[in-house]
Formats: sequence, C-alpha cells, structure tokens
Amino acid sequence: MKALVYHGPGKKSWEDVPDPTILKPTDVIVKIDATTICGTDLHILKGDVPAVEVGRILGHEGVGTITEIGDAVASLVVGDRVIVSAVTACGRCIYCKDGVYSHCQADEGASGIGWILGHLIDGTQAEYVRVPFAETSVHKLPEGVSDAEGLLLSDILPTGHEIGVQYGRVKPGDVVAVIGAGPVGLAAMLTAGLYGPSRIIAIDLDANRVAEATKFGATDGDWKEQVLALTDGLGVDVAIEAVGIPQTFTMCLDIVRPAGTVANVGVHGTGVDLPLDTLWISNIVITMGLINANTTDMLLKMVASKKLDATPFVSHTFALDDILDAYDVFERAAETKALKVVLNA
Ligand code: NAD
Ligand code: ZN
Repeated sequence: MKALVYHGPGKKSWEDVPDPTILKPTDVIVKIDATTICGTDLHILKGDVPAVEVGRILGHEGVGTITEIGDAVASLVVGDRVIVSAVTACGRCIYCKDGVYSHCQADEGASGIGWILGHLIDGTQAEYVRVPFAETSVHKLPEGVSDAEGLLLSDILPTGHEIGVQYGRVKPGDVVAVIGAGPVGLAAMLTAGLYGPSRIIAIDLDANRVAEATKFGATDGDWKEQVLALTDGLGVDVAIEAVGIPQTFTMCLDIVRPAGTVANVGVHGTGVDLPLDTLWISNIVITMGLINANTTDMLLKMVASKKLDATPFVSHTFALDDILDAYDVFERAAETKALKVVLNA
C-alpha cells in the first residue's frame, strides 16, 4: 500500500510500504476512506515530538471501512464504516476505567499512552491502518454523517471540547479567549458555545482564520489592550491556548483574570517559564492534557442531529495520493486559507 512516512524532522514521503496485518485478536484492519492532517503532525515534522521514530506512518484521524477483524472482535464486522479515534484504548486498565483513555496502560508494544496512532505505531495517513483494541477505539459512523464530518470526531472536536472547554471550566456568561484559530482552536470555540459563554474572542496571527472564527461563534479579537477593553479591564474568564509555543502560553497568562482558567491544548516542543512570583496571588487554574475521547460519542450525536455544525471546518479536499500537496497547503494556511484539509481515498 501507499503511506505517508516520517523520515525525521522536515522529511516525509508518500511511498510503498507493506500492508498492515492483524497482530492481536482485538485488532481490526480499516481501509481508509478519508483522512486529514493535524497541527500535531506539523509539530512532529518540526521535531517537537521525539517519541516518533523514523519510518513511522503518520496520521491519527480517519474514517474508513473494516476489511479484516481479529478473532476476539465481537461487536464489529467486515464492512462496518467507522471513525478511527486518535486515542486507542483497551477499556480495561485503571485509566480507561476512570475515563482517562489518553493514558491507557495497555501493552501495544508502546504502552502507557492512548494516542499511539501515527505516534508510537503506524497511523492513518495510508491506504490501510491496523487499529488495536478496535471495539473500544472506533466509533460506527452513523447514517447522515459525512466522512468529512466523521473525521472531525477523530481528534479536533473532542480535543477542543475536552482539553479546551471542559478543562477550561467554561460556564454560562464567561468571556472565553482562544489563542490559535486553527482547526483545534475553532473546535474549542464551537463547543464552548454549548455552555453559554457571553463572548468568545479569537486571537491568531492569521487574519483569515480570525475572520473564519466568526462562523464558529467568536467575535473579532486583537491583542491584549483590546481583550482587556472587552472585559472591563480584568481579563477573560477562560484563556485557551491552541498553538503550542511558549509565546502563546504566556499570552494566556497575560489575559486571564484572577480566579480564571488557562487551558493549554497546544503540543509544545520547548519549555516555558512560569512566573510564580507574580502568579501565585492570582488564584488561577492552569490545565493541560491529551485528548481523552471520552466525549466523542456525545459530540457525534450532536453532529448527527445537526446541533453542532461541523461543515465549515473543511476548506480543501484532495485525493489521498496528493497528500504531499495537502501538507503544503495546510502548512501555509495563512496564504492558502486552509482550515481542515480532507484527503479522500
Ligand atoms: P494549526 O497549526 O492549524 O493552528 C495553529 C494556529 O496558531 C494557526 O492558525 C497559527 O496562525 C496560529 N498561531 C501561530 N503562532 C501564533 C501566535 N504567536 N499568536 C497567535 N496565533 C498563532 O494547528 P491545529 O491543528 O489547530 O492544532 C492546534 C494545537 O493543538 C497544536 O499545537 C496541536 O498539536 C494541538 N493539539 C493538541 C491535542 C491534545 O490532545 N492536547 C490534540 C490535537 C492537537
Ligand atoms: Zn491531532
């Protein structure tokens, strides 16, 4: 089959690799019908995620059709159309039982983390993918949900909702600022709307993405003075970081009000100074984490019933074979106006 293979920082190619096979009775093989590219894939290609080894097939988002099932798989059959979650979970370990699927302890040759696809094992930017613990790691695609909408449930909608909005403790009336209006930041803005904030402010260097953010519930935003002016000079209740660089994390600390919350969603490749000498007195909460995918089913229901409109996320569609062009477009989002790029097999 063909797959997008990581060859170290800055290097990738679309090349021939062996087809995946069932390795454990709880596995399935999924023929990818649609996949996409995440900001995290860009961090991997920058060298920010050193756990990714040379030769790894990237990608942790996908919709596809099951072509093979392991002997222990009872609730899925060949031909089922499924959403592959970014988080692979055994459903049985101590963390899974607690709903913290992101830290599933199952031994997949890469134990101790739920995000393994396109990270610690081969991922979804390929014609086929092996999905371990399939029964607890895929979601059947309901009638009426398109492949492109389904793809958003693999990662960005649950990530924005769980790590941005829920960890950020967004509640009715809150003023929420989201720094980084990429697909994940936009997902946080859209799902923040479920909790009744009084205002959502989008902050990005990319003017197109700030303009697009108005479709997801945000009012136009600019930098600090304007944010403070919009919030009676005190700052925002919740500042969500959705970029993954020290500067934007610090920006969140600059605009959060006393007793507010900073929810870090970005994947970081370097550390950041935490100025405890000025922060200790502020009563703020700082949260961070990896998507748990514990709200995927709920969000999928909201998308299926059209209560959440996932359609504005997709800006470009490519054939899977043209994935290198899709990377180029997604990497140059400010020029190409890319949001989520969909690759159809
Ligand atoms: P993206 O690269 O498409 O978007 C990032 C946005 O940040 C861009 O619009 C860019 O213009 C903006 N930006 C860059 N520098 C900025 C600055 N100095 N000030 C303001 N805006 C700036 O990425 P994405 O797919 O939306 O993902 C966003 C982040 O979320 C990434 O770090 C990604 O790795 C992370 N992520 C985390 C999880 C998790 O589980 N925690 C899951 C998925 C993605
Ligand atoms: Zn992702």
